[in-house]
Amino acid sequence: MRVGLLGSICASLLASGCVTGRASDLTLPQRPAGQAPTAPDGPVIVDNAMLGVSVRALSREVEAIRALRFQREVSFRVLSVAAIAAHFRDERGVESEAPKGDDLLAVGLGHLRDEDGNDRDEFARMMGNEAQGFYDPRDGILTLSEVEARSLSRAGPAGIEARATVVHELVHALQDQHFHGRVAVDDTAPAMTDRASVRLALLEGDATLVTLEWQARQRGARMLGTLDQRPRIARWAERAQVLTEANVPKYFIDAIELPYEAGATAVGALYERGGWTAVNAALARDELRTGAMLHPERGDEGLVVVEPAPSRSGTERVLQRELGELELRLLLAAIVRKERAGELASTWRGDSVALDRAMGVGARAPLVLQWRIACGDVQGADALVLALVPLVERWRRDGCPRMRGGSAGACPASVTVEQGPAGVTVLVRRGD
Ligand SMILES: [Zn+2]
Repeated sequence: MRVGLLGSICASLLASGCVTGRASDLTLPQRPAGQAPTAPDGPVIVDNAMLGVSVRALSREVEAIRALRFQREVSFRVLSVAAIAAHFRDERGVESEAPKGDDLLAVGLGHLRDEDGNDRDEFARMMGNEAQGFYDPRDGILTLSEVEARSLSRAGPAGIEARATVVHELVHALQDQHFHGRVAVDDTAPAMTDRASVRLALLEGDATLVTLEWQARQRGARMLGTLDQRPRIARWAERAQVLTEANVPKYFIDAIELPYEAGATAVGALYERGGWTAVNAALARDELRTGAMLHPERGDEGLVVVEPAPSRSGTERVLQRELGELELRLLLAAIVRKERAGELASTWRGDSVALDRAMGVGARAPLVLQWRIACGDVQGADALVLALVPLVERWRRDGCPRMRGGSAGACPASVTVEQGPAGVTVLVRRGD
């Protein structure tokens, strides 16, 4: 099977914001979970001239809110729901090594039991069915689903939701025109990295913030820079939920939702500190790490580069990289509530994950994962360990057949505090 959905979808389509239901906190079109869309295939008949007028008018509104001008008009197209789903499936055809690394890491971290499952295929199908529109930086075209296109000029909630979708995607187009380096898709780059997390959270957070302001203006109000900004973003993040289908691992759903929630909060905080200038500076700053993005009051202060844990004897290194604070939140979200996961993960000051495999036993050699996380202080490290102990116990009980020394009913796993050159660190290990 084709692996690496996180690589292809998050790094490209989602990065460019296909899930616009998230942007407006209005609900997606009601459709029972698991039921395929009934929209007909084939050409979609909509009035393109009228659509163009709407998109251009919304472009002017986006420019006014975002204080940035489009350098060129944004091209758009309308696709049937079925064609959008097919587009997502095609995304999965792009083969590269990076998504395979993501899959192995997901196995190593216990999010997936095995890298050859059908979970990611199922997930791609679901994403295709749920998308209302997306912006693809590879061709610079904004795609709308026929449902949104037909609603665009309507009064009432359906019209507002469709226009909010376009606003969200137009922000991605604007980002692409001004910050192409941040937006551009690299199909070969892994999705589970600190850098990829920063990219997604900034892009989706920015688009979400503009859309929330646009919605406030529809009601004759303002949000940005007012006392209502923080509570409004918090309410949105609490309610934000786009993916209704429960047939895929919780991690996939969490990983898709987090950039919107954490991103809107982070970009909101940036805006509070320095308006759009601060947001633009973050978009332009390549070396920005999750810790600095999520806690602009701290910035780079205290962030460290962490040396990976050495390979265990009899293993060779498959990969090592920095995963970032948001990936730590995702791990914690397996055992604690989202808010608590956010608090606990805020001790993150840098990390290094290393994945090794047993030597000389073929392609599916047993794996060993070691994730070393630098913490702000001893208290932060202790709290992190305390929270992770139940997860480690669950791993041991549930087993980890892909990890070295693991089986269907047992798993060598541990979480410990260490003191080293990077200060106090927590080491999470799976496989012996
Ligand atoms: Zn988006």
